Amino acid sequence: MRGPSLPPRAKPDLASYDTILIFTSGGKDSLCCLLHLLERGVDRRRIELHHHEVDGRGAWFMDWPVTGAYVAATAAAFGLPLYRSWRVGGFEREMLRRDAATAPVLFETPLGLAQAGGAGRLGTRLAFPQISADPSVRWCSPALKIDVGAAVIRNQDRFLGQRLLVVTGERAEESPARARYATFEPHGTDTRGGRRRPRHVDHWRPVHGWSTACVWDTVGRHGVRPHPAYELGWARLSCMSCIFGTAAQWATIRLIAPEVFERIARYEELFGRTIQRARSIRDLAALGRPYQAAIDNPGLVALALGDSWPLPIRGSPEDWVMPAGAFAERSGPT
Ligand code: SF4
Repeated sequence: MRGPSLPPRAKPDLASYDTILIFTSGGKDSLCCLLHLLERGVDRRRIELHHHEVDGRGAWFMDWPVTGAYVAATAAAFGLPLYRSWRVGGFEREMLRRDAATAPVLFETPLGLAQAGGAGRLGTRLAFPQISADPSVRWCSPALKIDVGAAVIRNQDRFLGQRLLVVTGERAEESPARARYATFEPHGTDTRGGRRRPRHVDHWRPVHGWSTACVWDTVGRHGVRPHPAYELGWARLSCMSCIFGTAAQWATIRLIAPEVFERIARYEELFGRTIQRARSIRDLAALGRPYQAAIDNPGLVALALGDSWPLPIRGSPEDWVMPAGAFAERSGPT
């Protein structure tokens, strides 16, 4: 049951929540949410980081392989617990669903690994998500992130009777659809006032009105090393092979990760339907020029495509360097 809508300019009373869950992609915006909470003096014992793994621990397909290790290193650097969650088989399994139910969600808890779902209606996808702001056709965001996050909250008794604040990093500047998001509202898992499994869950987007410059200024002020995708030229940290990728991004993926590029291109041919309606990724890559930062930095490419994070996360703000992609072409989920 959803709670009442909140006044449009309402802001959370941060001291009133038992637990603050930051849903982090590993990108600059969710990192900024964390830094903002710490700057506002929130007790870090009430903060948890949650990360949804898009490839669902299956074969490498869409995401940057290093993202999980980078997020874990960030959590360790700030002394915060990290709970990972994923839909089994991730993007590729969901895409290849044929007369099958969507896979269950696995998620880490303080008591170990737990499972939810997996017994839904049978259905068939056999297609990439559509390029759209409508999540009912752009199925990757709900299936692999939004519904996974909701399952994490709905299926843990430790949250019953609690006041929870879910914090995410969407910003109005990213797209007209995101500009319409509320900054503060009841979360989809809110059951306040209900008699069965009551929990008060609010959703706050603290950086919704922030500019890109303001976000990078905050990251630099704290001397936090960003995800290497930014240093390779990407302006946003979404999946490496995000369906919204530009020609330059597909050209870069073809250069640095040719096997993954080929697998995706072959799926386009198999489905008879390309990711972006007008062009296949082969055509897009042919039109684009790989990011120079990726050409120039094979060590960074190896870091981004590896599954470990051997570097410090926090350094001196004086030594912090703005990444090559900080203000590059915009692309990514709308
Ligand atoms: S980052 Fe792109 S491909 Fe990945 S889930 Fe979001 S919209 Fe889909």
